[in-house]
Amino acid sequence: MKNAGPTQTQRSIANLKGVGAQTLKKLERLGLESIEDLLFHLPHRYEDRTRLIPLANIRVGDHALVSGQIDSVHVSQGHRRTLALRISDGSGHLFLRFFHHTQEQRRVLIEGQRLQCFGEVRLGFQGLELHHPDLTLLAQGQTPEAEASLTPVYPLTEGLHQKSLRKLIGQALNTALDDLIDWLPEDSLGSERPLSLKTALQQLHAPRAGTPPDSNAMVMARERLVFEELLAHHLSLSRFRLRVQNQPAPPMAANTQLSQQFEAALPFKLTQAQQRVIEELGEDLKRPWPMMRLVQGDVGSGKTVVAAFAALTAIGEGYQVAIMAPTELLAEQHARSFEHWLGPLGIKVGLLSGKAKGENRRQSLEALQTGHLALMVGTHALFQEEVQFQKLGLVIIDEQHRFGVHQRLALKEKGQQNGLAPHQLIMTATPIPRTLAMIGYADLDLSIIDERPPGRTPVKTTVLPASRKEDIIGRIHDWVRLGRQVYWVCTLIEESEMLQAEAAENATERLKNALPALRIALIHGRLKGALKEAVMASFKEGEIDILVATTVIEVGVDVPNASLMVIENAERLGLAQLHQLRGRVGRGPGEAHCVLVYQPPLGETARERLAILRETDDGFVIAEKDLEIRGPGELLGTRQTGQIAFRVADLSRDALLIDRVHQTAEQLMRDHPSHGDPLIERWLGQAVQFMEA
Ligand code: ADP
Ligand code: MG
Repeated sequence: MKNAGPTQTQRSIANLKGVGAQTLKKLERLGLESIEDLLFHLPHRYEDRTRLIPLANIRVGDHALVSGQIDSVHVSQGHRRTLALRISDGSGHLFLRFFHHTQEQRRVLIEGQRLQCFGEVRLGFQGLELHHPDLTLLAQGQTPEAEASLTPVYPLTEGLHQKSLRKLIGQALNTALDDLIDWLPEDSLGSERPLSLKTALQQLHAPRAGTPPDSNAMVMARERLVFEELLAHHLSLSRFRLRVQNQPAPPMAANTQLSQQFEAALPFKLTQAQQRVIEELGEDLKRPWPMMRLVQGDVGSGKTVVAAFAALTAIGEGYQVAIMAPTELLAEQHARSFEHWLGPLGIKVGLLSGKAKGENRRQSLEALQTGHLALMVGTHALFQEEVQFQKLGLVIIDEQHRFGVHQRLALKEKGQQNGLAPHQLIMTATPIPRTLAMIGYADLDLSIIDERPPGRTPVKTTVLPASRKEDIIGRIHDWVRLGRQVYWVCTLIEESEMLQAEAAENATERLKNALPALRIALIHGRLKGALKEAVMASFKEGEIDILVATTVIEVGVDVPNASLMVIENAERLGLAQLHQLRGRVGRGPGEAHCVLVYQPPLGETARERLAILRETDDGFVIAEKDLEIRGPGELLGTRQTGQIAFRVADLSRDALLIDRVHQTAEQLMRDHPSHGDPLIERWLGQAVQFMEA
């Protein structure tokens, strides 16, 4: 193995033959700058041109390589001059159709000409046909020739042709593959005959005939690269974490008097799990480097009060605390809870809503800057530049799956003014499967609240078609007579708040007609903040029986007496979202129900999702199933769209590699620390620069 340093393959693509400034620009759009980038730009599928198929054997939908002789040429008149050729090979015939063509094509595509072509077989008026196939003319006596390897199909960008990219990557393979450095320690791959990096790349760019994607050779080649990619991600997050730990942060000790006073005033006893996590946070906060901890606890596990203890510690030491929530509604609710909890201790709590304007807003910003406010709750409005803290010591981010890494970092920057980084506490209800935790969250410590407050019964879930609405309405009626309250949730596919609001308004009308004796109110994202708050408050007070809502109530809303939830068009929502919604009920003593109403016909995945929800309300099980059904992309949430997408790895498929990835990472950092950078650069390139910016 060679030593680290700039390598041959790290030279610019400009060094390859036939690459002009235009092409370089297009390649750059794909993130391809060095020759090595080209080598790691992998096909997303393949075409099989390794077998010549007799025309008698082709089928609609096949992508087929065929050959034959032109036996008739026809140009249709009219404004679209279509060129149609009929070719035959003795076994059968086929039409080739060109909806636009050149003079040159007309000149060479004549009766008697032999050719071979590749394309997708379609059914036309006159029989099977190919549209705009890839063509090669055959000279007199020349035999048609199948390819020796499968033809790669690469991700493209506008203006870049598949053929030119293929040629370039071919050139890179021919001239530079031998110079490619394998940064992995030799014994790290474990298997008996580990595939070399070169062999793996060769196999993926140009699979030999007869090696379909699921063949052993392809699987091994992909795994070789997946391993490297996971390793690069892990190394990058570990490095990021090291960097964070090298920054100074204010050490904070818990103020025992304050926290005892707070705990004594709570109307409940903390669960063991809450106490444990509070202690873990306390240990982190004592250190002179920033806490970076993710607290995961299923909906209703009581994360907010845990966060309040951490906030008290910071405030007790004279620091300010920022709490960021994903929605206005949740921010308002948090502001209320913290005001209720901490106000009696003489702590000033503020709310910065995105909607606050004018004098109001100016006043809260000033109170924040002068240090009058000790705790500020808000949505992403907290990132705005004019929001200045006097002495920010702790950032709490609720329901982190809604935020991206970059937003988190932006808020952290705010604390930097005095040379100290604020501590960070991130809370999520989305359980993180072990595989994701180890790769996607390797920069965070993890605490889990794995216990629910006592006295809660699991939510009973039923799944009903919309045609059973009358039964459901009857059920609501009985439920309200028992003194309990109800959520009626409207969903829509469209992300449009306006359409959602409209649907909710209609539902409210229908319910009012069906249940005239009940008190019914509506809440959605388009209501004014004060009105929303008033509706929420009177629902909490029990002055409203049925709250019709859009999915704005998905996160965090807490009304223990509301114990029946009806979700309309449940088939439109994902597992995690349904689980979150359902978490709004079952927060108090007594039975709780959730009715998932669907509009038939139900698709396969939707059916599966609803069945899972009926069977379990264990957030962890649900997250594992979710990973199976959807893949990890969406689970990682914006973390993924924060440009940390995997190129070849798929955590639901490649989880088994993770332990070895970890061992290798340790070994690499110990024995070959200089190999980390080039590996990270190879796999993450720009994404890393972004994270560290
Ligand atoms: P989540 O973890 O979903 O954010 P919350 O923090 O909103 O949960 O807590 C849900 C409800 O449970 C709140 O009403 C909260 O006051 C209450 N709660 C929290 N901890 C306990 C506890 N140890 N015992 C009883 N109720 C609790
Ligand atoms: Mg919460």
